[in-house]
Amino acid sequence: MEKYIVVQKFGGSSVANIERIQNVARRVMETKNKNNHLVVVVSALGDTTDDLEAMALKLSSNPPDREMDMLMSTGEQISCALLSIAINALGHKAISFTGGQVGIRTDNTHTKARIETIDAKRIKKALDENKIVIVAGYQGVTDDDDITTLGRGGSDLTAVALAKTLNARVCEIFTDVKGIYTTDPRIVPEAKKIETIIFDEMLEMASLGAQVMQARSIEVAKRFNIPLHVRSSFSKEEGTMIVKENEKVEEVAVRGITCNKAEAKITICAVPDKPGVASKIFTELAKAGINVDMIVQNVSHTKLTDISFTVPDAVFNKAITATKKISHKIGAGEVLSDENIARVSIVGSGMRSHSGIAAKMFQTLAENKINIDMISTSEISISCIINYKFTDKAIKALHKKFNLGNS
Ligand code: ASP
Ligand code: MG
Repeated sequence: MEKYIVVQKFGGSSVANIERIQNVARRVMETKNKNNHLVVVVSALGDTTDDLEAMALKLSSNPPDREMDMLMSTGEQISCALLSIAINALGHKAISFTGGQVGIRTDNTHTKARIETIDAKRIKKALDENKIVIVAGYQGVTDDDDITTLGRGGSDLTAVALAKTLNARVCEIFTDVKGIYTTDPRIVPEAKKIETIIFDEMLEMASLGAQVMQARSIEVAKRFNIPLHVRSSFSKEEGTMIVKENEKVEEVAVRGITCNKAEAKITICAVPDKPGVASKIFTELAKAGINVDMIVQNVSHTKLTDISFTVPDAVFNKAITATKKISHKIGAGEVLSDENIARVSIVGSGMRSHSGIAAKMFQTLAENKINIDMISTSEISISCIINYKFTDKAIKALHKKFNLGNS
């Protein structure tokens, strides 16, 4: 019988302690025993990556990116070695590798490097020797052999990229939830597991706050059409399939609802309304390395206008400093800010053809006396910025209004 390659990725909570590592080892052996070639990607144990980062930040408020990668990549080196030890103890041959050892080459943008090439020679050789290959997720090396990491949640990207390089039959993403849900079940207990979702919807949900998968990994999966199966490492139940758009996926106006509380709003008042001003503001922010999200500029009646935008909480202080500097330079007024905001988004590819979805969203928020601060839309999503204390209320109401729960 011809063997085919399976890639499985296990997230941090799936390998958080010894029992769970043993559980993963057994699960991996079951797959292997079905006569597959098996490549397993692991994240760091539990909260290891956060803990490592916290230690560094105790030593320096601004540690060098290269040293952070050297540090943060160690979490995955521990988990891949432990999993390999566990599998060998169960009587099967396994071998663990770092990203560099399996030829994952990246550019040198430390802490969020891009994979450039993968030379899978070493993996293929080990598979030919009938070994289970365990790869440390989230990392690669530059041409100078410096260790890089692929951005938080980057083990997903390692798995997808390996699935592409090895031409794998399946890429399974094992996590601590049973799949992708219509919304966070901790907020709405009636939230339903989605059976099938298309790449575009998943990409949008991941970018707008769904935590299950790294957005960049979905981008890559979409580009190379690698179907993903997101499922629980604690149950045998089928999870959610993420696939390319086709007639087999029922088109719905709203597939899911996400939120992101980790954003803040900045407003520059009385900005001179003339060509080149917006460009100056956002060039300054870009130079400071700040990723601006939603931008709203009001129509001006007086040759002065207000410009508001949102930024991730993590760069808020940096953003305020940069904004004040540029606002002074262009002769604008006060800089206001609000950290108590949240973004609530509805996502669904059916929005392209259904009308009235935005109206229904705004109406639902109005019925619940929730004020909308800013609005932005994409082809398949609508987001509203609201006061963060109404986030759960908004999500519950929208989930109900769009009939997403178990009936
Ligand atoms: N351990 C890394 C993180 O926590 C990478 C990953 O889990 O995918 O972000
Ligand atoms: Mg993760």
